[in-house]
Amino acid sequence: MKTIDLRSDTVTKPSSEMRQAIATAIVGDDVFGDDPTVIELEKHVAGLFGREASLFVPSGTMGNQICLKVLSEPGWELLCDRECHVVNYEAAGPVIHAGLLINLLTTERGMITAEMVRQNIRPINLHCPLTKLVTLENTHNRHGGTILPQQEVLKVREVCDEFDLIFHLDGARIWNAHAASGKSLEELTAPFDSVSVCLSKGLGAPAGSMILGGAEFIEKCRRARKLFGGGMRQVGILAAAGLYAVKNNITRLVDDHTNAKLLAEGLNALDTFSVDLSRVETNIVVANIVADLPAETIVTNLSEAGVPVVQFGPRKIRMVTHLDVTGADCKEALDRIGELFN
Ligand SMILES: *Cc1c(COP(=O)(O)O)cnc(C)c1O
Repeated sequence: MKTIDLRSDTVTKPSSEMRQAIATAIVGDDVFGDDPTVIELEKHVAGLFGREASLFVPSGTMGNQICLKVLSEPGWELLCDRECHVVNYEAAGPVIHAGLLINLLTTERGMITAEMVRQNIRPINLHCPLTKLVTLENTHNRHGGTILPQQEVLKVREVCDEFDLIFHLDGARIWNAHAASGKSLEELTAPFDSVSVCLSKGLGAPAGSMILGGAEFIEKCRRARKLFGGGMRQVGILAAAGLYAVKNNITRLVDDHTNAKLLAEGLNALDTFSVDLSRVETNIVVANIVADLPAETIVTNLSEAGVPVVQFGPRKIRMVTHLDVTGADCKEALDRIGELFN
């Protein structure tokens, strides 16, 4: 039985074409600044986003953490959505690496509105921490791959300008927001001071993320990357995979979105699950369990049926479509799910 792995878009394996690019990459010592393939990737991705510079880092976590560290001082306060990756899945990084105080805000679909930012800025006096940073996540993982409303992002930027706040984007899946909305990568990310994006999610590279920003900021990030232990030597073999990914795997993301809708509609047709279809904007499907069954049981049964998914709460599971599952695979997954649950 073929496994149809819907746990995450991180499970993709490099294709033979990508492996070819890896095998033939010209490399050098990137800590010395000598790796031509890394240099090419950094130039190419900076260009895609209309930024001055970019930096290759081993993971999205390191990308976010370096940005927060470089842009802040210990004791500053960070405003972010309660469900965000930076706080929930990065091992308390903002506290440990940057010494930030975190204010978790409850949002609709991951969007911290301009009004919420305004309401949560503390008065400037000697008792209070300085509210200095805001982060957003686009698309938003725990909210189900939702795309942030760009008009509101621009309004938050205005509040950041008014109160001198730093605005960071966790854009691990910004590629999906771009493919689904038709807005350019540059337009989606221009309001932010710093941006981190992943090559190893929907784009299918085995590892790697990029930080984007101004040249001076990126040089500070390069130093922080060394501090974090992320300076790598002949890493052009990974950069080659990243280059292959950004050149070949962006436009096809719409297929993943079509497949996610197919899955969501199929699950909704069963009595066991209910999916808010309005949230299925990209490649993530969060299904609520409406039958009297714990998520653990469902996850175990599906795994045994060759359809691994992840638990997303006591009564929720998450499925993610990606490069290594086809529309036919998703139909097959639905058949297997339908045999177990109705
Ligand atoms: C995957 C992901 C990251 C980065 O995670 P790594 O495992 O460190 O690559 C960051 N933000 C979001 C929203 C993600 O989904």
